[in-house]
Amino acid sequence: MIAVLKQNATNEQIESLTAWLKERGLTVHISRGELYTILGLIGDTSRIDTELLEGLEMVDSVKRVSEPFKSANRKFHPDDSIIEIGNLKIGGPHFQIMAGPCSVESLEQILSVAKSVSASGAAILRGGAFKPRTSPYDFQGLRADGIDILLEVKKQTGMPVVTEIMNANHLPMFEHVDIIQVGARNMQNFELLKELGKLQKPILLKRGLANTLLELLMSAEYIMAGGNHNIILCERGIRTFETYTRNTLDLSAVPMLRQLTHLPVVVDPSHATGNTRLVQPMAMAATAAGAHGLIIEVHPDPVNALCDGAQSLTPEQFAEVTEKVHRIRGIVEPGAALQ
Ligand code: PEP
Ligand code: MN
Repeated sequence: MIAVLKQNATNEQIESLTAWLKERGLTVHISRGELYTILGLIGDTSRIDTELLEGLEMVDSVKRVSEPFKSANRKFHPDDSIIEIGNLKIGGPHFQIMAGPCSVESLEQILSVAKSVSASGAAILRGGAFKPRTSPYDFQGLRADGIDILLEVKKQTGMPVVTEIMNANHLPMFEHVDIIQVGARNMQNFELLKELGKLQKPILLKRGLANTLLELLMSAEYIMAGGNHNIILCERGIRTFETYTRNTLDLSAVPMLRQLTHLPVVVDPSHATGNTRLVQPMAMAATAAGAHGLIIEVHPDPVNALCDGAQSLTPEQFAEVTEKVHRIRGIVEPGAALQ
């Protein structure tokens, strides 16, 4: 349920109404927009007499929210959420590019990629340390050593890092990681999501291979229900009957999610297509569709990559992508911050 307050509602009135609602066992989220303040009410709202609430002087209107996702719902928070990563921002007018190899392979590899991608416009460095591979015989990632390498490169370059977690027991290793990624295969690992809800760190939540947008939003809701509202959603392609591409990039997910939720939405054109040649057009299309950012795999030597070489861009190819993406940003959001 949401209660839209009148423009002239005072802080004192808001506080006393909030306290009254909390006494009735509800969790109250306050969203202060430019025009309205909205109280988002979560819990058993059947105990609330809507007519009584609507009759209060400071209340403009009361609406039931029928969707099962509440905190993630744009009705609860009409303005775009802006997530802060150190002094970077993503969401609203802020657009960010995350780039780096599929897997952390060595310090030299990560350092060279970090320098080249940051020179061409990526502000955030990606690299998998724990890799969810289909085959147990494939490279599983450098694990803890991979995280150490990312953090060393973060120290040397100042770039924030994003890397995937697969097991909540590994959380202590992620203390200095800037964005924790939940991969497609763990989107519905609800116990992991609950643990991430206890943090205040930004979470990059990737859509599962065969999950609906509603399921993605419900997974975000799991994290938010624990108190962590710093979530970035990621469309990375879904499984369809098509086999020429690794997945099918569901681009309409971007405007659909932007309508349904206030959370930032980024697109991963690398895993979505599985094909180097398709990354540039889909990165451009995602930007045109209104994505708040991109996450792109870049490797200094894709042919010899230990993972996902076929979809990895060289630093030169990546520079061409960012140049085109920035031109499209200029059309989608003229005057807005490119980074
Ligand atoms: C990744 O980003 O490295 C990854 C494994 O992606 P996804 O979970 O989308 O497959
Ligand atoms: Mn990969």
